[in-house]
Amino acid sequence: MKHSITITRASQSKVSDLDFNNIPLGTTFTDHMFICDYENGQWINPRIEPLKPIATHPAAMALHYGQAIFEGMKATVDGNGNPMLFRANKNAARLNKSADRMGMPHFPEALFVEGLKQLVALEHNWIPPKDGSALYLRPFMYADEPFIGMRAATHYKFIIMASPAGPFFGKRIKLWAEKQYIRAAHGGTGEAKAAGNYAAAIRPTELAKAKGYDQVLWLDAVEHKYIQEVGTMNIFFKIDGAFVTPKRDGSILDGITRMSVIDVLRDKGYDVVERAITIDEIKEAANKGILEEAFGTGTAVGIAYIQEIGVANETIQVSNESPVGVEVNNTLNAIKTGKIEDKFNWMIKIENQLV
Ligand SMILES: *Cc1c(COP(=O)(O)O)cnc(C)c1O
Repeated sequence: MKHSITITRASQSKVSDLDFNNIPLGTTFTDHMFICDYENGQWINPRIEPLKPIATHPAAMALHYGQAIFEGMKATVDGNGNPMLFRANKNAARLNKSADRMGMPHFPEALFVEGLKQLVALEHNWIPPKDGSALYLRPFMYADEPFIGMRAATHYKFIIMASPAGPFFGKRIKLWAEKQYIRAAHGGTGEAKAAGNYAAAIRPTELAKAKGYDQVLWLDAVEHKYIQEVGTMNIFFKIDGAFVTPKRDGSILDGITRMSVIDVLRDKGYDVVERAITIDEIKEAANKGILEEAFGTGTAVGIAYIQEIGVANETIQVSNESPVGVEVNNTLNAIKTGKIEDKFNWMIKIENQLV
């Protein structure tokens, strides 16, 4: 199906205001957004227009009942300045899984990818070329029907915004294994990229930060011992030469970086097992000296290397270096910038010229 997307260009681009050597995180947006409305059971009027505030009725249902979901992905450029997307079809499919859980309509996957492509083509001057930088893309959907009452909304908006992001030079992070608050329980919304999941994580994360940690390591809701994930990242451990990562059980986010890291690790000859992992098992591995690496994986930061994990009044020392994590991160970045062959067929090329 060919979608026709109406384009209204901004009269002047703000890209010349951006200092590409010093990009503020999450506060700069490009000139345009993609936007589409849902009414009478249909997505209508897909368009790209200048980014601007949107008038919202105070009774817009997303504000009261939380039907709001999002995605996150990046556009990069190859050595010739040609823009590319990383596995955007996976984000399109995941948005619809989130929509299912939250009683929201599907957004056509082909239109999701086409909207991204046309927006990125229009904004290609905003893609920071430096290694590890990218144009962060934020597709999201929310209920904008004005209505007081509990049911699925009948009006929604789907929008894609773009925000340039500099290279992430993260220090090694410290995690707090949380035994009081939970993120997700079986039957809950943990597998959906739903706005409310993040609202519920804010307070526990603030408390962990006050204790000197960077992020919360979420544990299962019943026994507080099975490891789920971290903030907006999935987690991997290297124990005695092999990798383990929590298996998908409906409570963790099905990360696209996670699935890509599994493929890259296996391609490099490592065993990767997806299974239930307890925090005690990690403590024991550390005590035996066989906990070799741990890292978080997600679109925003790529791979975040873990230094230590606080559990109750103990500290699990992980490692001071993550050689395999670094190697995998470099491989992913090299694929995203066309420096090595895209042997997994992950990259989606974008024509610079709009037709
Ligand atoms: C987005 C997200 C991830 C990472 O997913 P990617 O597709 O790799 O970016 C992991 N956990 C949570 C809770 C997330 O919101």
